Amino acid sequence: MILSGAGISAESGIPTFRDSDGLWNNHRIEDVATIEAYYRNPEMVHDFYNELKPDLLKAEPNPAHLAITRLQNEYKNGTVSVVTQNVDLLHEKAGNRNVYHIHGRIDEAVCMNCGQVMTAKGEVTTETVCPQCGVPAMMKPNIVFFGENLLRMNEVDALLDKCRLFIAVGTSGAVYPANTFARTAKYHGADTIEFNLHTTVNNRDFDRHVIGKAGETLPIYVDELLKES
Ligand code: NAD
Repeated sequence: MILSGAGISAESGIPTFRDSDGLWNNHRIEDVATIEAYYRNPEMVHDFYNELKPDLLKAEPNPAHLAITRLQNEYKNGTVSVVTQNVDLLHEKAGNRNVYHIHGRIDEAVCMNCGQVMTAKGEVTTETVCPQCGVPAMMKPNIVFFGENLLRMNEVDALLDKCRLFIAVGTSGAVYPANTFARTAKYHGADTIEFNLHTTVNNRDFDRHVIGKAGETLPIYVDELLKES
């Protein structure tokens, strides 16, 4: 299993949260990424994601994403799944398969009234009407805010149970519950390895650390892994 965080997309020009003093595009996380903020001021939250969306949608994958495609195509020792905390679509754009977006996707909206998820590549506002139930003002970006449950966790739990190699790429280990996955995988017998610019707070959960830019280090590691397999 590969767990990716914002760091894997940094070399594609998408800023991470924590490397910019806890700000995302100059906004405090509490103002734009919590469910309380959405209920308090949905207009502001919609404005933020409507502004962010075009940049995320036009970003292109970098060598780290492409290395995963190569691994998935050529690895002989098992199936490679990608569990991502990212809301961008760079794994898909690079041709990655078996991608689980546990924090949602920037190109979707979800109705808080009936639960319908819809594709939303354009703007979503408080005026947007749900195509399923017809109720206005209840569409939310399909992004998991702090205070909400993660998506696809049953599938991720099953993957962690049988995972033999757990690779974390560009994730700070500060966001629960993704920061517990390495430990769970290790408990089930997986080898664990982390790719980051520096060791993270979870460093004891990893057997090996590869320090550097994921776009440089991951392709080299994939070469090694493919040679071994
Ligand atoms: P984070 O911002 O907390 O941490 C990013 C990590 O990536 C850091 O540990 C940093 O050292 C590392 N990093 C930065 N550049 C790197 C590079 N070139 N190579 C390797 N590592 C690098 O990210 P997070 O832990 O994923 O959590 C933040 C949350 O913010 C996520 O849940 C996600 O939903 C959201 N987010 C998403 C995006 C995106 O979709 N691209 C961008 C920003 C934030």
